Amino acid sequence: MQDQRTMRCWRVKVAAVAAVSLLLSACAPLPRYTTLPVEMRPSPNFGDRRPNYVIIHHTTNDSVEQALATLTSRMREVSAHYLIGRDGRIIYLVDEQKRAWHAGDSYWGGNRDLNSSSIGIELDNNGNEPFAEAQISVLIDLLRDLTARWGIPPANIIGHGDVSPGRKVDPSAYFPWRRLAAAGLGLWCEPPYAPAPAGADDAALLAGLGYDVTRLPAAVAAFKRHWAPEDTTPALSDGQRALLQCLIGKQQAGSSSVSYQ
Ligand SMILES: [Zn+2]
Repeated sequence: MQDQRTMRCWRVKVAAVAAVSLLLSACAPLPRYTTLPVEMRPSPNFGDRRPNYVIIHHTTNDSVEQALATLTSRMREVSAHYLIGRDGRIIYLVDEQKRAWHAGDSYWGGNRDLNSSSIGIELDNNGNEPFAEAQISVLIDLLRDLTARWGIPPANIIGHGDVSPGRKVDPSAYFPWRRLAAAGLGLWCEPPYAPAPAGADDAALLAGLGYDVTRLPAAVAAFKRHWAPEDTTPALSDGQRALLQCLIGKQQAGSSSVSYQ
């Protein structure tokens, strides 16, 4: 009886402390950014920002230790949320809710700063070799976990080279995007595709998918590295225009089925 009364008392105290701290956070002044005159009426209804993309990289290094030396050096000012070794070891480097410095100058589908809205995953790979089986298997597990927890549309798993065409080429053409797609991750279409409308413009199609087409040849090269790595010619074929149209349709269908608070 005595114990029950003590427990009840504690519960009341805990509830009171929670209520006071909620009240205090609701009354705390907001940090001021605008110089315009504003009336402060803080709302208690907010949370941390949530990532909406995953950007895949390769490190260009030969070992996890080499990559870690860069990714944890204050002088280098680069990082990622996760690094995956060739052996499938996952190293967690930056809080998922914080802005890691992995994408740099970037653009995708109207977003100018992918660092602010993405999780960055570095794969230990020198850029001239196939990706290790254990590494890809664990990457698929991590991508399933991230997309499920954050409600990230599977189509929003893209490469650094996609968001920084002409500046970055990772992950390389060895990266198994098709295998990811078979696991329900990333964006993919299998032939046959419906032909693109006659006269469909390359820049409009690539921009429709998300690419920055300021430098069109760079956007074409990035698209081919991801969706047609066997083709090293500089121009888009009719089949690739049809593929682009299929990808755009799937992307729109996938994004519209995700709901957010
Ligand atoms: Zn990168």
